[in-house]
Amino acid sequence: MELHYLSIRYEGDYDALLARLRVNEECEEEFRDIFDECMKIANPKGVFGACSAEQDGPYTIVGGKRFDSRVLSVNFKGLDRVFPYVISCGRELYDRACAESDPLYRFWIDGISEAALRAVGVKTREAVQETYGLTAVSCVNPGSLADFPLPCQRPLFDLLGEGPDRIGLQLTPSFLMLPYKSGSGIYFESGKRYENCSLCPRLTCPGRRAPYSEEMLAAYGLLPGPADGAQGVCEA
Ligand code: SF4
Repeated sequence: MELHYLSIRYEGDYDALLARLRVNEECEEEFRDIFDECMKIANPKGVFGACSAEQDGPYTIVGGKRFDSRVLSVNFKGLDRVFPYVISCGRELYDRACAESDPLYRFWIDGISEAALRAVGVKTREAVQETYGLTAVSCVNPGSLADFPLPCQRPLFDLLGEGPDRIGLQLTPSFLMLPYKSGSGIYFESGKRYENCSLCPRLTCPGRRAPYSEEMLAAYGLLPGPADGAQGVCEA
């Protein structure tokens, strides 16, 4: 697969971060120092490519890797190519966070890293659309739903070959990513907006982007979800 790399200069919105991280007025000067330091080193990155998609009975074959997932099967129906990707806040911010012993400073650096991750996520989505001439895309993410669980990270990373390693992103034996502020998934062309959250029963999740819908569950051939919190596993 031909890989495309992104490496961006992240310029954080100071006031937005100040508010988001609820920094007290008396700590503002310290926060400013941490913010400035992070802006000097922040270099979030991403990598993506295109690969084949086809159905084989109940399985979805993506770039030769077999996935047993209703979410993939329904979303990729009729498509002959999809776009795996990984993104990360970058090793620079991660190493700085790991070296920090003060828990408050660490919390701030993690918050800034998360914002850097979001920034490269937006750029990656735009780059995927531009590179392949797609008008609208949605994505599925391993670990977001029980139907597409975290171990699916392994074949996804395999699809991207040396890409994750080249941007400093590692997969742990328990399928978590390092740096922690990283993301992975598969973009697919879709006229309709798809959000994992519609199928996720974690009702009180603060990151929810779409309402939980039993109608959607039925459309995807998934059983109604159990009580809140039982299945929501993504870190979004
Ligand atoms: S855990 Fe939250 S963000 Fe993730 S899919 Fe569920 S509702 Fe959405």
